[in-house]
Amino acid sequence: MADFDAIVVGAGCAGSVAAVKLARAGKSVLLIDRAGEPGSKNMTGGRIYAHALAKVLPDFADEAPLERKITRERVSFLTDADNTTLEFASPSLGLPENASYAVLRAPFDAWLADQAEQAGAECVFGITVEDLVMDGGRVCGVRAGDDEITAEVTILADGANSLLSERAGLAKRPLPHQMAVSAKEVIELPEGVISDRFQVPEGEGCAWLFVGAATQGHAGGGFLYTNRTSVSIGVVATLSDLCGSSTPVYKMLDAFKEHPAVAPVLAGGKLVEYSAHMVPEGGLAMVPKLACDGCLLAGDAAMLCVNLGYQVRGMDYAMASGAAAAQAAVAAIDAGDTSEQGLAGYREALEDCFVLQDLRDHAGLPAFLEQTPRLYGEYPAMAAEVMRGMFAVDGSPVGRLRDKVRPAVRRVGLRNILKDVRRGVKAL
Ligand SMILES: Cc1cc2nc3c(=O)[nH]c(=O)nc-3n(C[C@H](O)[C@H](O)[C@H](O)COP(=O)(O)OP(=O)(O)OC[C@H]3O[C@@H](n4cnc5c(N)ncnc54)[C@H](O)[C@@H]3O)c2cc1C
Repeated sequence: MADFDAIVVGAGCAGSVAAVKLARAGKSVLLIDRAGEPGSKNMTGGRIYAHALAKVLPDFADEAPLERKITRERVSFLTDADNTTLEFASPSLGLPENASYAVLRAPFDAWLADQAEQAGAECVFGITVEDLVMDGGRVCGVRAGDDEITAEVTILADGANSLLSERAGLAKRPLPHQMAVSAKEVIELPEGVISDRFQVPEGEGCAWLFVGAATQGHAGGGFLYTNRTSVSIGVVATLSDLCGSSTPVYKMLDAFKEHPAVAPVLAGGKLVEYSAHMVPEGGLAMVPKLACDGCLLAGDAAMLCVNLGYQVRGMDYAMASGAAAAQAAVAAIDAGDTSEQGLAGYREALEDCFVLQDLRDHAGLPAFLEQTPRLYGEYPAMAAEVMRGMFAVDGSPVGRLRDKVRPAVRRVGLRNILKDVRRGVKAL
């Protein structure tokens, strides 16, 4: 007989939610994380879209360590000197069904893991799972140091760099164009200063994405999220594109912080946290097989992450997949069949909800974002040239707008623009 009904590896968004659901269903569950404090090794941009969390923990808004509710969205196209920004602020962003919050993973993940413990999960932190206990192709549990712990079902929620999913025979090493690398800093500022600089009322905040000079023309982007008394700022760049670059991602971040669009909102701030992490950005093409006998993959370990350019999401996919994995495990254990076949309900549940539907709908987007270098250089420059034509007045005759737009368009090439628009529309 196995030691536990289920073992969950990784107390991030996916793993802790899976453990909550399993424990609530009356299953014996062990939640293991390599970090002494869950969350201390985790990173996000980040903002969490709360819908998936609300399904599992409906009172989260009163209890979870959330930073600010996001009610202001910005997307900026940067050249070295210019900034063309699209901004959307709306009460609709704050409605309960749409709510999203800036979060810091250290306090947030510790709270989430605590919910699993309160639900009845046995939690062991500060232990790295080094290997899986295998019996032929079946995963029977985990190995950590000299310990071998067995379970009917093992859920691997060990994040983007999951070595265990490879060991289970489910995933292969991702390709460089499917992964991005990011560097992030948390800069402390007084609460009122943040509210003033981002024009948000108390408790509300801003999410700001950047294309162009943030990554010095490389595929990727910059991000900035307002926390309660700090700002999270970072850059994400696609690995394949970085291979030929002499600028490492941390230097991109240093330069990005000096950009005239960003430097004033960080002025006077104090660096309190630095982190770097991988992001699976290959979309549906990189989603591995999700189940084998005795084992399921959830969250980033299953590569369930989406970058739409204007929206970066992984935490709500992690939570929804963690919940679905737990549900499938419970059904399989109850039916006495934890084979790959018995766990097939997991993939079906993901196909039936936003998780795999979003990835399927945007299957072509990662290739578009990676293979359209004009997005990161020529288009931000074109936008800036048009804006300068509209707003810079030096006393000479103002001229017709179309005469100002034409040279900017010509520089990129109308044919190129039409081609990219067609590809972009298809991908989105
Ligand atoms: C720069 C950046 C910006 C992002 N921005 C956003 C955003 O704004 N919004 C959003 O929704 N998503 C964002 N994401 C994606 C999101 O952060 C991830 O999709 C999400 O964190 C995945 O959660 P997870 O639980 O699957 O994995 P993780 O949060 O990575 O958790 C994995 C856990 O497994 C543990 N672990 C790993 N290996 C072992 C082992 N061998 N033994 C024991 N424990 C182990 C780790 O310690 C960790 O706690 C961003 C990601 C990055 C890197």
